[in-house]
Amino acid sequence: MTKETRTANNFIKNIVEKDVADGKHAGKVHTRFPPEPNGFLHVGHAKSICLNFGLAQSYAQGACNLRFDDTNPEKEEQTYIDAIKKDVEWLGFSWEGEVRYASEYFPQLFDFALELIGKGKAYVCSLTADQASEYRGTLKEAGKNSPFRERSIEENLDLFQRMRAGEFPDGAHVLRAKIDMSSPNMNMRDPILYRIRHIEHHQTGKAWCVYPMYDFTHPISDALEGITHSLCTLEFEGHRPLYDWVLDNITIPCHPQQIEFARLNLNYTVTSKRKLKRLVDEKRVDGWDDPRMPTIAGMRRRGFTPESIRSFCEAIGVTRSEGVVDVSMLEFAIREDLNERAPRAMCVLRPIKLTLSNYPEDKVEALSVPVHPNFPEMGERTVYWRKDLLIDQEDFAEEPPKKWKRLAPGGSVRMRGGYVITCEEVVKDAAGNVTEIIASYDDKTLGVNPVGYKASGVIHWISSVENVDLTVRLYDRLFTDESPDSGKAAEDFVQLINPDSLQVLANAKGEMSLANIAATLPYQFEREGYFCVDSSSSEGKLVYNRTVTLRDTWEKQGN
Ligand code: ATP
Ligand code: MG
Repeated sequence: MTKETRTANNFIKNIVEKDVADGKHAGKVHTRFPPEPNGFLHVGHAKSICLNFGLAQSYAQGACNLRFDDTNPEKEEQTYIDAIKKDVEWLGFSWEGEVRYASEYFPQLFDFALELIGKGKAYVCSLTADQASEYRGTLKEAGKNSPFRERSIEENLDLFQRMRAGEFPDGAHVLRAKIDMSSPNMNMRDPILYRIRHIEHHQTGKAWCVYPMYDFTHPISDALEGITHSLCTLEFEGHRPLYDWVLDNITIPCHPQQIEFARLNLNYTVTSKRKLKRLVDEKRVDGWDDPRMPTIAGMRRRGFTPESIRSFCEAIGVTRSEGVVDVSMLEFAIREDLNERAPRAMCVLRPIKLTLSNYPEDKVEALSVPVHPNFPEMGERTVYWRKDLLIDQEDFAEEPPKKWKRLAPGGSVRMRGGYVITCEEVVKDAAGNVTEIIASYDDKTLGVNPVGYKASGVIHWISSVENVDLTVRLYDRLFTDESPDSGKAAEDFVQLINPDSLQVLANAKGEMSLANIAATLPYQFEREGYFCVDSSSSEGKLVYNRTVTLRDTWEKQGN
């Protein structure tokens, strides 16, 4: 995919470009990313972050705010605020000025509500929740006016002030916009603007017991911040008339343009904070940053790079048509990035002894191999050849299938970066399991294949002495089902968890270079995949996570 086609299908970029060319908003581009701090950010949010911050970055007069949409204190927490800030920064973006909070605007929002009441455009309604939903009507049937709709401005002002003063319990009254109970758009049927909640807020403490609704808060927050383009996902399309109504009916100089785009849906993946929270709360995963989670924190721990996530977001584009993106595109993006930058190392995940019958007992050869096959400037690393080696159990078969390219009785393979060996015999335990392979090596084969020599393949290996102990976690997709997030499976999605999504190999052995190079580097373990050090690692106890396999193994299995 070329750079051109990647940007061509971002329709919002085209709109913004035209606006800038036309001098609309005085040539300014000011966007915002407005998460609700009620969970960790996921890959869908990454799309929105890359779009909002990315757009702002591409203009000299561009800026993007980070604003917490914190009007629902029940579900919100400081932990989430901290995690979200960290994730946005990690993705490589910086916000304009200080972090903003919708809750900072509570005083202004309250005044705008008073203005609406004063203009006869909002009223205090005292229907119970059940009554209110009955009055609301249905998609086919118009709603009915609330009996409280014609309260006088004075009574409304008085009641609203007393709601704010804490005189009424939760649910006793709400403030509603006076729009149109027969509108075909349910959002316009006198929507609630304020409700009473006697609850402490993580930012404002006990200062408020009435909280503004999202549909009232959002347009005003955007306008107060001078946002030019307010980008959101398609489910808000039906809220746009209300967004505009609010701004048209209060005294505020700025009127941002709301533009909706299709949310990111990924197959084999759940992208809903509520469902991700359930996985965490039910301990089906090891927290929000479990490397199997599609959260940004999970992907970071899994070994994804910010570059790979950004290039994925660019590749999927921005359109208005709902679709499902194949998760293999995300895996492609990280492979492509790591293939370039990851140093190589040999690591034997499931070791089995391999003894060279014709190699001296006390001899050790230090062999140099390149850190990266394509970049000599990355230097050389040392691997140690001796009589006692280890190879992976999966690289040996007593009865090999056809076209076997690894080691088998009587067969020869090249040991990567080392010599060609030939399997002579195997040693078994009482149960008949192979416990050791005896092989001979050919001392004329280091780095060369003598004429007529035939080694069937190349396998990786490690010295049984010069190595570091590793625990390796092999991660696979968290769900076996292609659409765990939709349809009949919607609430049963936990039943679709892949039982093999985590495999822990506690006896892996890695080459010595793993002990020397900065632990934060992602590695390619040759023939196995890309790996990164897990955050739970400590000195002498290295844990590596498999970020992704070298090839798309799901494709092959026909999954
Ligand atoms: P969720 O659906 O996971 O609960 P949300 O929409 O409630 O997410 P917010 O914190 O309100 O989460 O989202 C912040 C911003 O990210 C919003 O502008 C929202 O439209 C956008 N966003 C959320 N999910 C996606 C997604 N899957 N694809 C693209 N943008 C998304
Ligand atoms: Mg939301």
